[in-house]
Amino acid sequence: MVLIFLLTEDVPVVYKEGQMKKKRGNKYLENYINGEMIGPESDTYIDNYNPATGAVYSFIPDSDKKDVAIAVKAADKAFNSWSQTPVDKRCRIMLRIADLIEQNLENLALAESIDNGKPLSLAKSIDIPRASANFRFFATGIMHFASESHIMENSAINYTNRKPLGVVGCISPWNLPLYLFTWKIAPAIATGNCVVAKPSEITPMTADLLSGICIEAGLPPGVLNIVHGYGHKVGKAITEHPKVKGISFTGGTKTGQEIAQVTAGTFKKLSLEMGGKNPNIIFADCNFDEMMRTTLRSSFSNQGQICLCGPRIFIEKPIYEKFKKEFVERTKKLKVGDPLSPKSRQGAVVSKEHFEKILYYIDLAKKEGGKILCGGKKATVTASRCKNGWFIEPTIIEGLPPKCRTNQEEIFGPVATIMPFERESEVIRYANSTPYGLSATIWTEDISKAHRTAALIEAGIIWVNCWLVRDLRTPFGGVKNSGMGREGGWEALRFFTEPQNVCVKLQ
Ligand code: NAD
Repeated sequence: MVLIFLLTEDVPVVYKEGQMKKKRGNKYLENYINGEMIGPESDTYIDNYNPATGAVYSFIPDSDKKDVAIAVKAADKAFNSWSQTPVDKRCRIMLRIADLIEQNLENLALAESIDNGKPLSLAKSIDIPRASANFRFFATGIMHFASESHIMENSAINYTNRKPLGVVGCISPWNLPLYLFTWKIAPAIATGNCVVAKPSEITPMTADLLSGICIEAGLPPGVLNIVHGYGHKVGKAITEHPKVKGISFTGGTKTGQEIAQVTAGTFKKLSLEMGGKNPNIIFADCNFDEMMRTTLRSSFSNQGQICLCGPRIFIEKPIYEKFKKEFVERTKKLKVGDPLSPKSRQGAVVSKEHFEKILYYIDLAKKEGGKILCGGKKATVTASRCKNGWFIEPTIIEGLPPKCRTNQEEIFGPVATIMPFERESEVIRYANSTPYGLSATIWTEDISKAHRTAALIEAGIIWVNCWLVRDLRTPFGGVKNSGMGREGGWEALRFFTEPQNVCVKLQ
């Protein structure tokens, strides 16, 4: 199968060869249930916007609990056979999915860029390769996943079966659409579960394309079901469904709290990856050039819409002025432009609502006494097709205390604040002052200081002298209001399985 793009009135439309005769036309996405592409029971659709143009370019199924019930039924029916399918066969199917994602990299990246507003170059180099890597990683990981055994000298031996949970729900956000969607689905199906998955209603396109890839790869019907629609309808119905035994969620902290409340009485297994407000701690003895190059990325990559971005930048006083001058100069040079242009370093933010939220926070920063050193407003983009798009200038703010709202609440946009510090104990206090605890970055050439600081930071992921270097085997997740549970490596395979101990008497 080949993914194809059509250009109609400046609006690219994606569809799959062989699936062109959609009931309502190619601009209408469909749910993937029981191995088939079908419309929602309600026959109603939600507008899907291109953030770079501000125009509606396709329509998403406005599914509800009826569609979720059908999807859960399909998943439940497929479970017995899929969970008994030998791991090498599961592995082969998942590797085929990984290959097909790679073969369709160009078109998937284009779809992601159009749907999300991110630069096409970023989707090509990060998002889509990682989606393929997720399937490859867990396809091969499951081949090496082993049970534990505990021998009781001469009396008994225990072995631990790891059984799939059954039907599980995977709910993902809009900032890294296919990347995070597959990060959940891959370990879930590798371990023999059947999945009802919901991509963000703001960025549904690559999930729709993944459906076609799964059909082509020969994934049996019902193993993966993708239901599109709003969180309060589809997401809620997945979390409420009694047959769904586990939920893997990535998104905002408030949504995570709602899911925890809805599922509290049902004892579903929960993995919650939520918001962040990560500190970037820069000591005076760092490798300045490398720190500066990376800090530009950790502040503004994907328009600052990565949960691991470090928007609170603490700089040790002796290098504060030097840092400020160079950081502002280099940020001003980051080209904001049409996401499809190879020259653009910054694309559009994901939606009108999010655009307004970011501008609200810039305004709040000013009211709180912050000084805007660069950016601070809607960006003007030269491409005429982008005149109504949602673009924001990368923004740096100084003069704010660590405890003000701008420095405590998640903005999730191209906005960074810079603050000086004098002592290690002081910066650790600042770093730990938010309710979040996802990640932190530390810059120093003093190895002892790096370890000392890392140990005292309340966060699940620490980078020393680097950022976003990811080894998929490592535990991934946050503490405090940033998360519950861990993804990645064996942690993910353990989450999607239930251990059962069998004790056998030896004599
Ligand atoms: P969101 O919480 O609004 O939505 C996430 C998903 O949950 C969407 O698919 C949405 O439709 C669904 N949803 C909404 N309400 C629901 C409900 N009541 N029940 C079930 N599902 C529901 O988040 P978002 O705006 O899409 O994403 C941005 C947030 O995600 C930011 O806070 C960011 O920090 C966080 N994030 C965290 C990580 C991480 O690994 N910790 C990674 C990426 C993004």
